[in-house]
Amino acid sequence: MCLTDKELTQNPSHFEETDEIVTHRDMGWDDYRELIRGMRFFDPHIHMVSRTTDDYEAMRDAGIVGLIEPAFWVGQPRTGLSTFKDYYSSLVGWERFRSSQFGIKHYCTIGLNSREANNEPLAEQVMEILPLYLYKEGVVGVGEIGFDDQTAAEEKYYRLQLELAKKAKLPVQIHTPHRDKKKGTERSMAIALEHGLDPSWVIVDHNNEETVKSVLDQGFWAAFTIYPFTKMGNERMVKVVEHYGPNQIMVNSAADWGISDPLAIPKTAALMKMRGIPDETIRLVTYQNAIDAFAKSGQIDVSDFENGLNVDQSEKFNGNTILRGGQQPRVAKDSLVIR
Ligand SMILES: [Zn+2]
Repeated sequence: MCLTDKELTQNPSHFEETDEIVTHRDMGWDDYRELIRGMRFFDPHIHMVSRTTDDYEAMRDAGIVGLIEPAFWVGQPRTGLSTFKDYYSSLVGWERFRSSQFGIKHYCTIGLNSREANNEPLAEQVMEILPLYLYKEGVVGVGEIGFDDQTAAEEKYYRLQLELAKKAKLPVQIHTPHRDKKKGTERSMAIALEHGLDPSWVIVDHNNEETVKSVLDQGFWAAFTIYPFTKMGNERMVKVVEHYGPNQIMVNSAADWGISDPLAIPKTAALMKMRGIPDETIRLVTYQNAIDAFAKSGQIDVSDFENGLNVDQSEKFNGNTILRGGQQPRVAKDSLVIR
């Protein structure tokens, strides 16, 4: 789950305002395109079912070659188990195909998110079907799971899913709460360690300056979400990387159905470049570290995407195509244009 506008209002930044001026949101295409030309990016947290084909095209043009789509909250309460089935099926099925048609390799993480853990009768049923999806091709972790309101039910299903991850030998993608973040983050890590998880198999998401040191010190991966309005996408992210270096750190957009930016990673990379951060550091935090963390699943083969995906828009998924009447498919490497 990602930060909504409402949550932002209710939960203002934990940090005092600084004198920072430039945000990735301020940067137009021309500002960053030249700076990142030739760079490759991997977004380890983005909800593509909520995004448009224009987004896919813009992402590919900006150098995003692979992504991970965590299972998350759809924005309103679910009415039954079948909506979970359809959602998980789309993450390993149609959305994966749709992404490939725009030249981006698609992976996902599967889990019961914290908010939905609070509907216990439904959560019980979801737990039963999770193993049916966790072993599918392209599933690189259990996620996003963890705490939202930090209720007893959330803790119960978080613990159960940590056990599922251990059994399936999959990394864990932890969503940390936006309220009481520091406490929720510490609690998430302590419970993971209690269950015997190796911290190098656990990606702790939505970090900020308050949480990052402890996450890194304990050996977990620290992921940072670039939110358009909370300024994590600007000088603050650059400063985190300047201070801590690139090890165990990764950047994501967490773009979803709310106000968010699917180009947050390339734009942040451009900002880092402007600030003199070395190319290798940028490559680690916007590409390689995420791949290393989730490749422990055994599901990621970089040769599938590192030199671009072959796009063949004449392909179909269960008889369905992304093309509409009259459009001719493009069968060309690195081309996204539908004519
Ligand atoms: Zn999310």
